Amino acid sequence: MRLILTILILFLGQRLFGQISYSRILENKNFKWLADSSSQELTIYYQVDSWTDKKIETVRQRVINHLNSVKSFVDIKSYDKRVHFFIVDSREQMKLLVGHETNGSAFYNSNAVTGVASEKINSIYSNHELFHVVAMNLWGVPDIWVNEGMAVYSDNKWHGHDLYQLTRYLADNNRLVSLDRLIKHFRKVDDLISYPLTGSFVKYLDETYGRDTVLMIWKSKTKNLKKLTGKTIKELETDYLRQAGLTRNPTFRIFNAFGVGDTARLRKPRSNANTHVMHNA
Ligand SMILES: [Zn+2]
Repeated sequence: MRLILTILILFLGQRLFGQISYSRILENKNFKWLADSSSQELTIYYQVDSWTDKKIETVRQRVINHLNSVKSFVDIKSYDKRVHFFIVDSREQMKLLVGHETNGSAFYNSNAVTGVASEKINSIYSNHELFHVVAMNLWGVPDIWVNEGMAVYSDNKWHGHDLYQLTRYLADNNRLVSLDRLIKHFRKVDDLISYPLTGSFVKYLDETYGRDTVLMIWKSKTKNLKKLTGKTIKELETDYLRQAGLTRNPTFRIFNAFGVGDTARLRKPRSNANTHVMHNA
């Protein structure tokens, strides 16, 4: 009984943890924020003498461009809420801010986004977290693979690489994970494999079935995938890999998650124990 209670509390803690409010971020005692509200839809928060402070003109314009790109992607002319964008200098600072090391987070309930900007890491020049906040406010909260896939697809690339090209690269290097595993166990797969692959898959869905169908999948969860596309997950996988330009039968493997969040670094499996061949299609 005690174990169940502990697990429940841990789970609730994580759920609550996932819902940090804008005011809690703003009032975090470790930070003194400067605020830049020169756009109606956006306030950028940063610290004195930070990387962002020195480049605020450029940062402001580029973040506004990304927000505009997201609006265009989700097909709205204006966003009727203000987005609060908190920028820190490092992943260590991010841990002080949100409780764990990550390059970026989206808190859709309060329209807050966080990012890291420095000479070494720059996660703020991307649509990804802005897309999460805008899309979940417009369309509701979907299954995670659709959410992350669409966030990646909203940039139409992953770490600068074309999504279909990256899919072929992963296939060539025997790093493909089956669509079934991606959809059912997204968080259990290494981020640098799950993110580009689901981005690539929703790109295929969007190109093949159109945005209305993708939105129905977003809103009705994964259970209606077959009804909405007329295909099983296996058939969809074959079609999407063909659309990505794969010419040979791929090998699927399991790549377990090594980190949590949008930006865990890719590390090779330490031993074969982490990498099991599942099947050949
Ligand atoms: Zn994301």
